[in-house]
Amino acid sequence: MAFVKVALDVPLPALFDYALEDATAADIVGYRVVVPFGRRNVVGVALAVSATSGIDAAKIKPVIAVLRDVPALNADWCALLQFCADYYHHPLGAAVLAALPAGFKTPAALSPLLWTRLAWSGPPFASKKSERTRAVLAARIAESGEGGIYGYELTGVTPKAIAHLTQWQTEGVIVEARTRREERGGARGETRSEHLEADPFGHDATVSPACPPFLASSAGAPALHPEQAAAVAAITAALDARSSAPMLLHGVTGSGKTEVYLRAAAATLTRGRQALLLVPEINLTPRLLQQVRERFPAQTIVALHSALNESERLHGWLLAHTGAADIVLGTRLAVLTPMPRLGLIVVDEEHDASFKQQEGMRYSARDLAVFRAHREKLPVVLGSATPSLESYAHAESGRYHKLLLRTRAVRDAALPSIRLIDLNITAHEHGVTLPVWAALKARLAAGEQSLVFLNRRGFAPVLSCAGCGWVSACTRCTSYLVLHRQGNAANLRSDGMLARGRLVCHHCGLDTGVPERCPTCGNVDVRAYGQGTQRLESRVAERFADARVLRIDRDSTARKGAAERLLAQAHAHPDAGGADILVGTQMLAKGHDFKRLTLVAALNVDTALFSADFRASERLFAQMMQVSGRAGRTEKPGEVLIQTRNPGHPLFQALLDHDYDRFARALLKERQSAGLPPSGFQAMLRAEAKTLTAALDFLRTAAAEGEDETHVTIYDAVPMTITRLMNVERAQLMVESRSRRALQAFLARWTAWLYGNAPRGVRWHLEVDPLDI
Ligand code: ADP
Ligand code: ZN
Ligand code: ZN
Repeated sequence: MAFVKVALDVPLPALFDYALEDATAADIVGYRVVVPFGRRNVVGVALAVSATSGIDAAKIKPVIAVLRDVPALNADWCALLQFCADYYHHPLGAAVLAALPAGFKTPAALSPLLWTRLAWSGPPFASKKSERTRAVLAARIAESGEGGIYGYELTGVTPKAIAHLTQWQTEGVIVEARTRREERGGARGETRSEHLEADPFGHDATVSPACPPFLASSAGAPALHPEQAAAVAAITAALDARSSAPMLLHGVTGSGKTEVYLRAAAATLTRGRQALLLVPEINLTPRLLQQVRERFPAQTIVALHSALNESERLHGWLLAHTGAADIVLGTRLAVLTPMPRLGLIVVDEEHDASFKQQEGMRYSARDLAVFRAHREKLPVVLGSATPSLESYAHAESGRYHKLLLRTRAVRDAALPSIRLIDLNITAHEHGVTLPVWAALKARLAAGEQSLVFLNRRGFAPVLSCAGCGWVSACTRCTSYLVLHRQGNAANLRSDGMLARGRLVCHHCGLDTGVPERCPTCGNVDVRAYGQGTQRLESRVAERFADARVLRIDRDSTARKGAAERLLAQAHAHPDAGGADILVGTQMLAKGHDFKRLTLVAALNVDTALFSADFRASERLFAQMMQVSGRAGRTEKPGEVLIQTRNPGHPLFQALLDHDYDRFARALLKERQSAGLPPSGFQAMLRAEAKTLTAALDFLRTAAAEGEDETHVTIYDAVPMTITRLMNVERAQLMVESRSRRALQAFLARWTAWLYGNAPRGVRWHLEVDPLDI
């Protein structure tokens, strides 16, 4: 009897043993298996086979079924997940199952027709009246011509699509289409090494970085600038050398990093390999997906992100996993997509905090991309105008290869001029200084676009009673309820909206009406203090009655398709209804290439200067550089106005010179002497309980467990900033070490203890390399 070690979605750091006659690793590892667990049958993934088991053989249950409908998850993928489990000290089974799409975890078998391109090869379908859906299916396949259509694309026609297709396949009226890749000589399903030995396109291995004509519709692809060409050449060389040294593409805003990614992807595809492009948020960069589709019209492009429904995600994932997809463009979770022909990973805006998963297994997709590339011996490109200090330090030390783009790509475009506006001495109306109002007016007159940046959504951050001092606090969290304008009341005046507003907690989602009187003293004089983007939008619109003002933030883009629509309006020409003034949060700072935008005004940025989180200044600097980077991306010069009470702060001084290097080096020095990342390594243990005392007590006991550690510092347990969330009290405990290895060794011992010793009623999790402190 053999024992199969199965990963199950269970929060315990163990694999589960099941019996299967004659099982061998080669035969079963990487396949899904159906096994009994408790009183249910569940789907898990077989990860190993052993002749023995530590468990009493009589108690071991048998594997019920092995699902071989989909190719096995390969060894590279299993190793990646094992690394995740080890490094983040997360249960392997939970990590494995969380990485798989929901539709892949049900016992029902999936038809290979789903990820096969099908073409019609029989006589035309003769439709009888009773066979309307079959006629539609047949027509869709026939229309797709020789290139064919994926089976999954037909599942929308009828739930019975696969049954019909299966029958047709048996009858021989549909066949697998010759894919475009096969037409060019490469075959689907070959292993990567085969691809490497024979260049399927007959190109010289040191192929020039230019797009091969059959891959790219060369229309629209600009000639590369020398620095871009050098970057593409370096990436191409790394592809051929199978060098896994990470490359930091440090290019100023508007320097044309996207073009470098597209060329690098083209070089990857000509070598018969798949490219993985990771981006912070796809709905914020619909243009990138569009650009990729335009550049590679004949290739299979898959987008993987959280806005997909289950079947969309499953199908995209299957195309990636079976090797049918050439390019996967995805958000952080996509780093865990199995890709049998993977050749290149790109992480765009690598500094972005959205690459960090904030629940379940708290991983950094950027760090996993680097690990994955290293293990699979392929190049990874980390791109940013404001690299994270972690990546920057690696580039400085030579561990990462540095690729620089120092100037803007568009002819005559220059970086914008930045001016600080001292709030201490400048008059303002509604939080906007007079110079900013004047600048907005001037741009409007000139027909140019402006952006007003305010990183606070909602109408006003708090409601308060002028009589007794009552404030709108969340009943479930340690936070204020934020006043929001209700529904689509865009024409409501900035001062007269209380009755139609809502009070919303940004942390737990609690959503209540606005009280007509103070709940404590009955006073009717309840006021909104401060301003968020909604109020600012109203004020700007009131001031410039003729201007088209567009607000872009988490709220205005919440509905499906809204972000695309609003961004299209932001990009549109004024004659086509394009916006004159954009009001928005950091969503607007990310990567957008607004061609007409010449003015950026940043309000309220000071709080980050004095935050307790040591990363706050790094983040603020990056954010200011990024938002500034939206201005002046074509020949018209751009201007940036930053309102601050601290114009003398060194952060702003470096910003004025666009000097990322100076700022980064100074910060690195500080971090070095304080032993903070990237010179030190951290992990955070967090506990949640009904009472704060229970959470703190548990953390203190846990801290005592590590008291003899010599290379690891364990700090005091403290309440989290938002101590209460959804009526749960939360506390945290930082551990730190100058040695990653020492920290990891400690965490391994520590988690073993934590699993065994957490009292009932206390939930805990560990976060390695925490970003928010
Ligand atoms: P980044 O991502 O570095 O901020 P983008 O990739 O958005 O910059 O490029 C900025 C602009 O420069 C885009 O409009 C792009 O089309 C243009 N561009 C990129 N490369 C070139 C080039 N080689 N020649 C001319 N324009 C280019
Ligand atoms: Zn009151
Ligand atoms: Zn709340």
